[in-house]
Amino acid sequence: MVIGVLAVQGAFIEHEKMLEALGATTFEIRQKKDLEQHMDGLILPGGESTVMGKLLKELELFEPLKALIENGLPVFGTCAGMILLADELSNDEKRHFATLPVTVRRNAYGRQLGSFHARAQMKGVGEIPMTFIRAPFVEQTHGADVLATVDGNIVAVRYQNQLATAFHPELDEDPSVHRYFLQMCAS
Ligand code: GLN
Repeated sequence: MVIGVLAVQGAFIEHEKMLEALGATTFEIRQKKDLEQHMDGLILPGGESTVMGKLLKELELFEPLKALIENGLPVFGTCAGMILLADELSNDEKRHFATLPVTVRRNAYGRQLGSFHARAQMKGVGEIPMTFIRAPFVEQTHGADVLATVDGNIVAVRYQNQLATAFHPELDEDPSVHRYFLQMCAS
């Protein structure tokens, strides 16, 4: 299994380590020519969605990646990656790939709750640790399945080939969510 990891900004190395520990091969996507390689799946990591969105356009990665996602390439967006996928942002004028039918609120927990940990059930995965860092959450889904909630807020969703979590499974020891994603890539 070969997974391309968007590596223009943010927490991408942790994803690579976790995927490789699960037996996958990873490569970093930093420029257009990196997309000449075959990939079975794509990771959009956490970081700063505004910066990533801007870099994606400047590096001419935006259109080809959007086309790959629309054509069914399995994609997993964590935190800022979830924001990049959402087709609606309730507190931002910008849209990015806009392929995932959810309304997402950026920095949804406010300053005080900027970062925190939780444990909760995720459908198809089990009970897992969840690390939130200035995280978004899904305010509303208009098509995506809800896979997990924390305190009534939606923090994981799936829509066809697209998986998104508001939290950072790559920062915890438990590789279950990445294993779930690799199963999506295999089928
Ligand atoms: N707050 C960031 C954003 O709005 C996301 C934070 C993260 O990815 N850890 O893009």
